[in-house]
Amino acid sequence: MAYSLVIGLEVHAQLSTRTKLFCGCERSFGEEPNMHTCPVCLGMPGTLPVPNAQAVEYAIRLGLALGCRIDPNALFTRKNYFYPDLPKGYQITQTGGMPIYDRPICVGGHMHLVGEGVDRHIEIVRIHMEEDAGKLIHDRGPDSLFDANRCGTPLCEVVTGPDMRSIPEAILYLQRLKQIVEYLGVCDGNMEEGNFRCDANVSLRKDDNAPLGTRVELKNMNSFSNIEKAIQIEIIRQAEILDNGGHIVQETRAYDVARGTTRSLRSKEDAHDYRYFPEPDLVPLQVSEAMVECVRSQMPELPEARARRYVDVLGLPEYDARVITADKALADWYEGILAAGTSPKQASNWFMGDVLRVLKETGKSIQDLPFGPGHIAALVVRIEDKTINGKIAKDLFSEMAQSGKTPDQIIDEKGLRQVTDTGAIDVAIAAVLTANPKELEGFRAGKDKLFGFFVGQVMKETKGKANPAVVNELLKKALAG
Ligand code: ADP
Ligand code: MG
Ligand code: ZN
Repeated sequence: MAYSLVIGLEVHAQLSTRTKLFCGCERSFGEEPNMHTCPVCLGMPGTLPVPNAQAVEYAIRLGLALGCRIDPNALFTRKNYFYPDLPKGYQITQTGGMPIYDRPICVGGHMHLVGEGVDRHIEIVRIHMEEDAGKLIHDRGPDSLFDANRCGTPLCEVVTGPDMRSIPEAILYLQRLKQIVEYLGVCDGNMEEGNFRCDANVSLRKDDNAPLGTRVELKNMNSFSNIEKAIQIEIIRQAEILDNGGHIVQETRAYDVARGTTRSLRSKEDAHDYRYFPEPDLVPLQVSEAMVECVRSQMPELPEARARRYVDVLGLPEYDARVITADKALADWYEGILAAGTSPKQASNWFMGDVLRVLKETGKSIQDLPFGPGHIAALVVRIEDKTINGKIAKDLFSEMAQSGKTPDQIIDEKGLRQVTDTGAIDVAIAAVLTANPKELEGFRAGKDKLFGFFVGQVMKETKGKANPAVVNELLKKALAG
C-alpha cells in the first residue's frame, strides 16, 4: 500500500566561535586529543559556566535570518544523563520538558522552500543553544578512547515542524539552511567534520489528511546522500510493518552506512527521564531589544539578496547569479575577480565556463584550486591589452589550472605573446599563399569561403599567436593583390 510521508528535521549547527560555550577553551577540530580542556568543560566540581557572548549573538543572527522571535528571557536548563562522553553528567541546553522551563532563544520562524518542483512553507519551531559532548573513539584497538576537545562546543539546534512531505523537500531544506548558516558566518557547514548534523524524524500515514503517524528518529547521518538513503530505507521498513497490520514503535534508530540498514539505538526516552531543571549556575539569558536591533543592523547579506544584487546591479543573467551564489565560497571567489578590476560579465564568463569546469573535473573545492581570482583578472587584462588572443587564453587557462603559475609567467615561459607585428604576419601570409596555390586559384575564381581556410593556415603558421584582426586585414590586402 502507498503511504504519505511526513518528515521533521532537527539540525545541530556548530557555531563557529573562537572559544567554547561556557569557558575560554578554544573550539577545535582534528587536533591532539584533550588539549583544549579546562576545569569548566571537564565538569570539575565548583567550577562555574560563563556564557559566550559571541555564541549568543550568532544564535540571534540565525534566528533573525529565519524570521524567529527572539525570547528576551531565554533559560538555560540542565539535561541529566550518564554517558562516557559527558564528564559533567549533564548537558546545559535550552529544552525543558515542562513548558515553564522551555524557553529557547528563538521561536516561531519559517522558511519558504521553492525550487526543483518544491513549493512549501516550513515552520521553524525553535532554535535553542546547547553544548556538545566529547567524542568517543572506538576504532583504535580493543579499548574505547575519550577526547574531551569537543566538550562544551557551542551548538544551535534548529527544529522544524513535521512539514516536509518528500525526500527532495527535506534535502532542499537542508541545503538552504546550510547555505544560510554559511552566509551568516555562524557555522562552517562542514558535514564531514560533523559541524552540521541532521536528525530526521520520519513517519507514514494513510493519506495527506490522516492524523500523523508515530515517528522514528534517524541519527548518524553526515552527508546528504546518507540522509536520502536512510530515509528511503526507513520508509520501506515502516511500510512493511504497517502493511502487516503492525504498529510503529517510537524510537531512535541509527543509519549504518556500511550495511545500508537502520538499527534501533534506544526506545524513545521521555522528558522526565532527563530530570530537567533550570541550570542553577546561570541566570536567565537577558536579551534586550537594543541587542537584537544591533545584531539585525549588522546582518550579513543572505544568498537571496546576493543573487538579486548580481542581477540588478552587476547585470548577470538570473541563471549565472543563482549558480554563483549557491555556495558562499564560490560567490566570494567570484567577487575576488571583480575586486581585481575585471568587469562582472567577463568575470562570470570565465567563472561559469572555465573555473566551474575545473572544479567538476578535478572534484576539488574552490579553496583548493592552485590559482586564485587574481589569476583570472590578470588573464583578462592580457586579453584586453592584446598580449594574447582568445584562443591562446584558453590554453593558458588550462596550464594555469594545473600549475598555478600566473598568466604573465606562462606567457614569458612559453613565448605566447600575440604577434601584432605586421611584418611577421606578412611573412606568414606569403608562406601560406605559396604553399597553397590551388586554394589561391580557387579563391581568385570566386570561392569566397576559402578566406576562412587562409586565416586558419596563417594562425597555424604563427602557432596561434597572431592577432586575428590583423591577420584578417593583411590577408584581405594580400588576396586582393
Ligand atoms: P525530540 O527532542 O524528542 O526529538 P523535538 O521536539 O526536538 O523532540 O523534535 C521533534 C521533531 O520531530 C521535530 O522536528 C518535529 O517536526 C518532528 N516530528 C514530530 N512528530 C512527527 C511525526 N509524526 N512525523 C514526522 N516528524 C515528526
Ligand atoms: Mg530529536
Ligand atoms: Zn574549557
